Amino acid sequence: MSQQAPPPTKQPDEMFCPSCGVAIKREAELCVHCGVRVGRPATGDKNKTAAILFAVFFGFFTWLYTYREDYGKFWIGLSVLIIGFILSIVAAGQVGVIVWFFAAMGIWVWSIVDTASKNDEWYAKY
Ligand SMILES: [Zn+2]
Repeated sequence: MSQQAPPPTKQPDEMFCPSCGVAIKREAELCVHCGVRVGRPATGDKNKTAAILFAVFFGFFTWLYTYREDYGKFWIGLSVLIIGFILSIVAAGQVGVIVWFFAAMGIWVWSIVDTASKNDEWYAKY
């Protein structure tokens, strides 16, 4: 056991491939040596915790955060809010306000469940 491999060296902008240990660029998605996908799973632009917090405080506005994927849901939420608001003015009455309130609450709960049900990888790659 006298033959000891020299410690691998790397540049500041490099990291070690988790599969083969060769130094590769941090920006690399694939290891040039072994071809394994290295990616950056923990450093995605989007964060699940932030999305859930957005949902808790701002309801369906959380879908603006992930607008590219969730724009349909955002517009559904906005439509219900606007239509319900107009109905509560035009049709007036407490019933309209109550219906609108529960619709808004439903979308609020939906936005929280929706953001919480997506996994971290979804946000990381998004
Ligand atoms: Zn490798």
